[in-house]
Amino acid sequence: MSQPVNKRARISRNRDAGAGIRLAAPYTEQALTALAARFSSPLLFIDCNVIRRQYRALASALPGVDLHYALKPLPDLNVVKVLAGEGAWFDLATNGEVDLVRAAGIAPERCIHTHPIKRDLDIRRALDFGVTIFVVDNPDEIAKFTPYRDRARLLLRVAYRSTDAQVDLSRKFGCDPEGAVGLAGTAARAGVAVIGLTFHVGSQVRSADAHVRAIEICARLIAEAAGRGLPPFSVLDIGGGFPIDYLQPAPAIDRFCAPIRAALAALPRGVRVIAEPGRYICGPAGFCLTTVMGRSMRDGRWWYYLDDGMYGSFSGQLYDQSRYPVELVKPHAGPKFPCVLAGPTCDSIDVIAEDIPMPELAAGDLLMGRQMGAYTSATATDFNFFPRAHVLVVNVTPAGD
Ligand SMILES: *Cc1c(COP(=O)(O)O)cnc(C)c1O
Repeated sequence: MSQPVNKRARISRNRDAGAGIRLAAPYTEQALTALAARFSSPLLFIDCNVIRRQYRALASALPGVDLHYALKPLPDLNVVKVLAGEGAWFDLATNGEVDLVRAAGIAPERCIHTHPIKRDLDIRRALDFGVTIFVVDNPDEIAKFTPYRDRARLLLRVAYRSTDAQVDLSRKFGCDPEGAVGLAGTAARAGVAVIGLTFHVGSQVRSADAHVRAIEICARLIAEAAGRGLPPFSVLDIGGGFPIDYLQPAPAIDRFCAPIRAALAALPRGVRVIAEPGRYICGPAGFCLTTVMGRSMRDGRWWYYLDDGMYGSFSGQLYDQSRYPVELVKPHAGPKFPCVLAGPTCDSIDVIAEDIPMPELAAGDLLMGRQMGAYTSATATDFNFFPRAHVLVVNVTPAGD
């Protein structure tokens, strides 16, 4: 049985292994079983038909808004290329992400660098690629741009606490709205161009209230800066946060964005609006295939030990506080019982689900997790030498090409 090992080594050297693979939805049991057999389990496949569908749905829910795909939830070369084909823009935060879009052949003018805290080497790496728009949220960061003031232009990140986001990011980054115009003044005195404002209300928000409130405050700041004679804020970046279905359904994107569209309509003319969606684009495109390695009856319940878990593709259950729908690929007849799905490692926190109803399973049974494109493989580890799932990107070219 050395075959699967060799196969895995060959695949991981060639990250484009799945590029030619087509998989028509709805996925049949045969197609999923064949995929897992060919590329070995655990597997995380990304369906680019879903990437395209999500991008188009958000683009039509936010007409006139340039969508910068945030690479953080799923930094994948083929996904970036597919999105470039759709006319997307990109949101980069690290040198690795700069290198990835560069390798994908993306024009630097289509990218912004949004990490609020940077080392000089980070700034130089991005400028060297040709990115010129950066985000800052404090005077020290503005000072870092004085050597590059002939090229770099800044967006000021404003913080909005959002108590209803699954992941609140305003605790860590962003200046007080009251301080934003003062910061623009600091930059102007240093000869560094500030061209606009940015915010990120947090990820997987339940309603658009936080976006709307933030847009309204930014509109006020745009007017205030103009009133103080500062260079006009001509860009507003409304960040990410757009929600998707997990165990609980999310609002349909068009309905979710309706109040955002209304708030944007009240902005002064000539303000270019951009957004930084991550999860919404890639989350629904990811599917995990994982196999039962063994089982044990413990205290009257079956425990099934899978070859993927909390240290792998399910790491988002810890870091991202998401819960993914998991189902059996080949449905079994027979009654269902509450069982435990555990990951492969020897650590006791490596448990994916408690009391999930399943028919009686056996070693070799294949399970599929849905909505697993965002913040899953991105945070996976090889803890305990259980290799993280190989990421297989399918349907890279649209059907019919
Ligand atoms: C993570 C992040 C995003 C993407 O957020 P989603 O909720 O995945 O859409 C966008 N902008 C910034 C600054 C981020 O840190």
